[in-house]
Amino acid sequence: MKLRFLGTGTSVGIPVIGCDCKVCTSPDPRNARTRASVQISSQDTSIIVDTPPDFRLQVLHAGIRRVDAVLFTHSHADHIFGFDDIRRFNTIQDAMIPAYAPQGTIDDLKRIFDYVSAEKGDGGYRPLTEFRLIAGDFRVGDIEVAAVPVVHDQKPCHGFIFRHRGVSVGYAPDCGTMPEASLQRFKGVDVMVLDALRYRPHRTHMTVEQSVQVLGLIGATRSYLTHMCHEVEHGELQLSLGRDMFVAYDGLVLEV
Ligand SMILES: [Zn+2]
Ligand SMILES: [Zn+2]
Ligand SMILES: [Zn+2]
Repeated sequence: MKLRFLGTGTSVGIPVIGCDCKVCTSPDPRNARTRASVQISSQDTSIIVDTPPDFRLQVLHAGIRRVDAVLFTHSHADHIFGFDDIRRFNTIQDAMIPAYAPQGTIDDLKRIFDYVSAEKGDGGYRPLTEFRLIAGDFRVGDIEVAAVPVVHDQKPCHGFIFRHRGVSVGYAPDCGTMPEASLQRFKGVDVMVLDALRYRPHRTHMTVEQSVQVLGLIGATRSYLTHMCHEVEHGELQLSLGRDMFVAYDGLVLEV
């Protein structure tokens, strides 16, 4: 199974518009972060988690040619506003592409993208998608998926666990609090990716310190921090982390 980080930044992206801080002007490309998204893939299956406003360019940079399903963690703008570009995959694959989400997120997606259709219509160029409610574990191709609830703002929000041929990846890019039951479910994954917005406390996101602590409890073989803002300098944070804990960056690909 392969995990590809398409975007690792918080909602405004980095560089931040109109900011001259050392991270926003950094020559290190790992400090440039588009909005959070990943691709999980096996030989035969390609899953996208969230479609940020940067989705089109992320897909072009990564050379992605196939999407079997889109999964949504929640309906904040930084996770959904690239959804319209899924129609290009409808054309390439000549197929409907299902989108999986919790109920509140489906309601928001149907309201915002009210022209989306599950069946070929009048020839208008629009996403061909069936919204599928996440209720328990499900499967996309040869990848098993489990949705794990996390606490993030007022919106319903999920992280996911992906399993394929005995290996597993946990992904929770937006998480203010990890419920105990969800922590238990993430325990034992081979790779865990978790929200680590910044060093100062935030109402809806984990700080780096909180994230490192929860990642320690989950105890994955490899742990990655994501959804970071411009207060987090890649190299500095990486130096402060222990073994087996890493700062994710756009374009990073992991073989799991
Ligand atoms: Zn977000
Ligand atoms: Zn900045
Ligand atoms: Zn969010």
